Amino acid sequence: MNIKIFNAGYCTCPEHLAIQNGRWKNIRFPAMFALLEHPQLGRLLFDTGYSHRFFEETKSFPNRVYRWLTPVTLREEDLAIHQLASMGIKPNDVDYVLISHFHADHIAALNDFKKARYIFLPQAYEKVRSSHGLNAFSKAFLPGLIPNDFDERSVPIKIQQSILLDGEYAPFKTGYDLLGDQSIIAVELPGHAFGQMGIFARQSNDLFFFVADATWLKRGIIQNSPPHKIANLLFSDPAEYKNTLGKLHDYQNNHSSVHVIPSHCEETLAQYIPSLSL
Ligand SMILES: [Zn+2]
Repeated sequence: MNIKIFNAGYCTCPEHLAIQNGRWKNIRFPAMFALLEHPQLGRLLFDTGYSHRFFEETKSFPNRVYRWLTPVTLREEDLAIHQLASMGIKPNDVDYVLISHFHADHIAALNDFKKARYIFLPQAYEKVRSSHGLNAFSKAFLPGLIPNDFDERSVPIKIQQSILLDGEYAPFKTGYDLLGDQSIIAVELPGHAFGQMGIFARQSNDLFFFVADATWLKRGIIQNSPPHKIANLLFSDPAEYKNTLGKLHDYQNNHSSVHVIPSHCEETLAQYIPSLSL
């Protein structure tokens, strides 16, 4: 499998909120997405980053508050569709989008991929699908980002078909074989959002572990350090969040060669995305 990592825009927020003992300085949080090219099963995206739709959906209250809290920068050339086009990939060439969770910065461009099927943990969508107005806002969910034919194109993970993982994945014990050939293994990373999933994918000898928003900064995993307490207001379950973070800390300690990639850690992403290099 070929794996390429991108970001479609970024937001800014004080580092202090993203990690304990962080600086008050505003730092950038790129909105990552990844392209996974499977030799037989086609092209998959892991999340999508921001799109112009995010700005349409946050024009008025209460959603406008997102823009105040985390101002977003998105250039035309940063859109997922344009970055893929520069590699000769058209939107309809994308066969699947794997959705880590339903926060706006992960699903804003779903509607750009008209032929793609959507793969996600069912509990992630169940918790938000009927949310509107303030209820949706409190879950950082913008219903307008969900395509009209989302249900028809969805292939939610069958959670009763979980598989037992071998020691290579410890302390993660169970997961989901997304494509049936063990090339992409999803694991549950709850706490940040209901039903958040991370995925393992391999490119020759390199194993990647995309952990979405289980931590915003890689340092959080290294130090087993959660964000400022105020972030708990955003999390679906702060206790679960800490549990998940602890597992990631153990995992990274025991598998130092694995590329563990949080979706918004600029320091980590800059190692894979040349345009982010400082
Ligand atoms: Zn999130």
